[in-house]
Amino acid sequence: MNLADSELVGGILDSHGYAVTADLTQADVVLLNTCAIREHAEQRIRGRLGLIRAQKRTRPDLVVGILGCMAERLRSRFLDEERLVDIVVGPDEYRRLPLLVENAVAGEKGVAVRLSKVEDYDDIVPLRTDGISAWISVMRGCDKFCSFCVVPFTRGRERSRPLQGVVAEVRMLLGRGFREVTLLGQNVNSYRDGGNDFTDLIRAVAAVSPQLRVRFTTSHPQDMSDRLIETIAVSPNICKSIHLPVQSGSDRILRLMNRTYTVDHYRRLVERLRRAMPSVSLSTDLISGFPTESDEDHAMTVELVRAVRFDGAYCFKYSRREHTKAWSMADDVPEEVKGRRVTELTRLQQSISRERNEAMVGTVEEVLMEGPSRKSADDSVGRTDSNKAVIFPRRQEPPGTYLRVRIERANSATLFGSVVQHASFEGMTI
Ligand code: SAM
Ligand code: SF4
Repeated sequence: MNLADSELVGGILDSHGYAVTADLTQADVVLLNTCAIREHAEQRIRGRLGLIRAQKRTRPDLVVGILGCMAERLRSRFLDEERLVDIVVGPDEYRRLPLLVENAVAGEKGVAVRLSKVEDYDDIVPLRTDGISAWISVMRGCDKFCSFCVVPFTRGRERSRPLQGVVAEVRMLLGRGFREVTLLGQNVNSYRDGGNDFTDLIRAVAAVSPQLRVRFTTSHPQDMSDRLIETIAVSPNICKSIHLPVQSGSDRILRLMNRTYTVDHYRRLVERLRRAMPSVSLSTDLISGFPTESDEDHAMTVELVRAVRFDGAYCFKYSRREHTKAWSMADDVPEEVKGRRVTELTRLQQSISRERNEAMVGTVEEVLMEGPSRKSADDSVGRTDSNKAVIFPRRQEPPGTYLRVRIERANSATLFGSVVQHASFEGMTI
């Protein structure tokens, strides 16, 4: 989501005559887009600021800005204590950046951190590097108020972009050679544009071209409708890969987290998904060490991970966030216990991921080629519909080509195989 927002900021500044440089020493303006979801993300920004401080010492006219979710929370600290920061801009005020940068050049510091109920940046063309995969924000904010989560406070109320605006952007991306779009929202199932819901949106996007892969993230387990499941199941170019964060396997903890579903509901949802799409790949997010989480609660999460057999899971240590409901609860699980629980879940998931990937050996997968492998010049890399990376001997076709690849071996993170032929769409070979 932050990558998509950085592209939006790039688009706004590009239309005011700025250009991007990857070289810090060449930059007149440095903007750091921040995340406040966990303490760790905040610490990383402090590390980056340290690097920029050295630049600012030799070039006092360098404009330094902090963007995104940390802006509101830490604005006074950034401007007063960290004197090197000139502007602080929250996620709903990026349109003001050109003016704020101009003012900063003239020596005036600026803050713009108000949240909006309507800003959706629908008319802004994000500045993307040409490639084959694009992120598209289809909604902003979140109204769920999970008790651990700072997003509703840093990104504000839920609002959706118009369906037609999203479809127009997808058409433009297809014309530029993109072959995969990921529709983004904190809870895409809440998407609403007049009478259109997320199912209508994803159908309209998938209808743009059979050559375009469509993905989406994230879905809240409470709101995943049968109509959406059916649509994914019957649409060849909507990927059968779903990120469905469960957070915990204990009903007591889920209640304290205000997640509004039970473990039983979640497991029945997984059954419905697998019945409709036997090959669906499922991933999740898990939090270890939420306040009061006992060994028994943790054992229930382990049991859920064993039972569901996800393809992948992101496991996080609980991080106490100001403003959230859980902020007022004692952060009573020791760091060392959180760490142990996260390690146990990560190891368990890795072994399940390996087994699930190994079960694909011998199958032929449709792979969208991304380009040369980063690890070896002799190999190319692509992704399956189920969003798994596949390495195969180097091909001359351009990125964005669909290939059929026989899977020959696998580990917990990657599949390896060889190309058997090009993939075809509606009877034509691409
Ligand atoms: N909207 C998505 C959902 O509810 O499924 C999740 C968005 S959140 C940016 C991504 C993940 O970060 C969450 O699923 C959760 O596992 C994790 N997360 C959020 N707040 C956290 C916190 N305070 N401590 C640890 N992990 C957290
Ligand atoms: Fe945060 Fe919950 Fe909203 Fe996801 S659904 S962004 S976890 S409040």
